[in-house]
Amino acid sequence: MQNADTIFRGAKLVDGTPSALVVKNGKFVAIGRDADVGTSARNVVDLGGALVVPGFVEGHIHLDISLYGDTWKSHKPCTAGFDVRERVEIQRQDMAAAAPMDERARNQLDLCISNGTTQMRSHVMVDASVGLKSLETILAVREEYRDRIDIQLVAFPQSGIITCPGTAQLLDAAFDLGCDLIGGLDPASFDRDTKAHLDVVFGIAEKRGVGVDIHLHEPNQLGIFVLEEIAARTRALGLQGKVAVSHAYALGEVPIDVLRRTAHTLAAAGVAIMTNAPGSHPFPPVMELRQAGVTVFSGSDNIRDSWWPYGDGDMLGRAMMIGYRSGFYTDEELGVAFELVTEEGAKALGLSDYGLRVGASADFVTLTAEHIPEAVVSVPKPRSVYKAGQCVVSNGVQIRK
Ligand SMILES: [Zn+2]
Repeated sequence: MQNADTIFRGAKLVDGTPSALVVKNGKFVAIGRDADVGTSARNVVDLGGALVVPGFVEGHIHLDISLYGDTWKSHKPCTAGFDVRERVEIQRQDMAAAAPMDERARNQLDLCISNGTTQMRSHVMVDASVGLKSLETILAVREEYRDRIDIQLVAFPQSGIITCPGTAQLLDAAFDLGCDLIGGLDPASFDRDTKAHLDVVFGIAEKRGVGVDIHLHEPNQLGIFVLEEIAARTRALGLQGKVAVSHAYALGEVPIDVLRRTAHTLAAAGVAIMTNAPGSHPFPPVMELRQAGVTVFSGSDNIRDSWWPYGDGDMLGRAMMIGYRSGFYTDEELGVAFELVTEEGAKALGLSDYGLRVGASADFVTLTAEHIPEAVVSVPKPRSVYKAGQCVVSNGVQIRK
């Protein structure tokens, strides 16, 4: 008789198989119809036939700037069409009047965890306007939540690097505090110096041995040019699989032949693309990119902040939105939307112990759905969420220890 910590019975796997999940030291040690035969455990939990899926991967969020849980802040439009610098200034004013950052970050984490997110990548502003203060706050909150969610932090130069003197040094210093990745922002249009911007970003990546995740809103051929530059630097430094570009709107704007050529360049360089299928904006064509071998993943991005009033921290809902905007109808296509918020997210984030498999961390969500395609279109709630085999959310209610 083998010993385990917890046996979960009454699980339904994604292929419909009734199954048991056996967990020891926070990891799956057996999964399958008779996985618990000959095993004893201190805890036995009946999942009641629920569909069991891996914990969701929130691949792009901003824990420092959300106003979620604070009083409602009406969106302030830019004076003459969308302008990133003006929006950053509006954000500065909103932040000055907002509840403390740690409180707002906790609100956002509670929301995401309740919806089933067990892994997250958050960008945090690091630049000469806020210094390292935001990062220090979010690092402390990350520590508080370490038993409930794994969080990677990206040092994000929201105010630019070259046009915001002192930022390059602060970005480098972020890695002494425990930051995980180096970020960037529109090297050509914001800093107006692609080479200088990417020199700093990839210079830090090389020096600190960290991955890269760059915000890229630049349109059409300008965006394609910057993507090619990022791919070339990724290959030159041997960073394949450790670099992501978030948004990459240009991929959704250029003619199909340019898209295909760029997709092959990105795939060959191991550069992943994050999309949240935002609003009415063109966004990267998911199927074309995947067919070329590009890892495509997703995230909420902004949640009720100075950029837009939307966002609910639900990655299953995000999968539905991506499927809806992409025209995904078949079961196979809906399955792709689901992969973007699970396995593909894990790949982009470099998570080695992810998934419903023996040896992986026992992070999973239970859903009331027949199968994945139905879950993507029906977005069922409430959910129960397990992190390293421990229940952190029971029927939508967080369990606090
Ligand atoms: Zn973002």
